[in-house]
Amino acid sequence: MSEKGKLKRFWIQELTRPDFEDWLENEPEPVVIIGIGSIEQHGPHLPLGMDSLYVRALIHEVAKRTNSVCVHPCWPGYSPHHMGFKGTITFSEETLLSILMDTIESLAQHGVKRFLLVNAHGGNTNIINLAVQLCKRYSKVMVAAPTGPSDTELAKRIAERQKRYWDVHSGPTETSSALLLFPELVEMWRLEDWRPTLKTDPRLMEFMDPGRPDYELVSQVRAACMEPDTDDFTSSGIYGINDPRTADVEEARLRFEERVNFLSEFIRVWKTIPVPPAFRD
Ligand SMILES: [Zn+2]
Repeated sequence: MSEKGKLKRFWIQELTRPDFEDWLENEPEPVVIIGIGSIEQHGPHLPLGMDSLYVRALIHEVAKRTNSVCVHPCWPGYSPHHMGFKGTITFSEETLLSILMDTIESLAQHGVKRFLLVNAHGGNTNIINLAVQLCKRYSKVMVAAPTGPSDTELAKRIAERQKRYWDVHSGPTETSSALLLFPELVEMWRLEDWRPTLKTDPRLMEFMDPGRPDYELVSQVRAACMEPDTDDFTSSGIYGINDPRTADVEEARLRFEERVNFLSEFIRVWKTIPVPPAFRD
């Protein structure tokens, strides 16, 4: 439903054509939010759809607060590095890039000028950034892929934990979000005998210390040495060396709220800037 440009539903697949037309015509600066995640192994306890389920929750909330339409064009993303574990679906880089560009170009043809890409899976990042660059050039539309906020106390605390324990995949941080947003899909009992399974050169482990004065340098040396596939360095599919059972739902709630606020504020400020001449028809 949309009345005088005000949406009552936000997923594109739930709108009728007249709803969409009403929104496009009457919303002063229509924004389409596109969320991308993955279908990939997330350790023994998190659902394969973790990243896509998360991004859907995030973009729907931002859409509600900003009167935007949200689109989740595909469940999988770019996950070749997880193919050593069963259940993972990966698109090729060309496929994912095409999905993003075709989605944006379709709605560009209907007159949408502002697209927000929201990503919930690190493996997609380079492809998403390339899509931003190419769509601005070829579809004559504004495309943004904002990240953040990174300077809040909570963001800094999480970032430090991610660096120190490599808590970036299926560890406490992600488990917290899953327990907040879709607890019925989480199987914590599978972690009964949890122990870290990260297998890497002990010298590289020493580099995982953001307190070191040479951290900027050694963290990049570590990145250079990282093997390409997840099953090269972890047998459980969990990256980190901190215990996922220490997941903190309250922290996830605060972080989710911070991200929703940041993206909503991004859209609010963005709408105050008129469409620059190069993007006009
Ligand atoms: Zn994930």
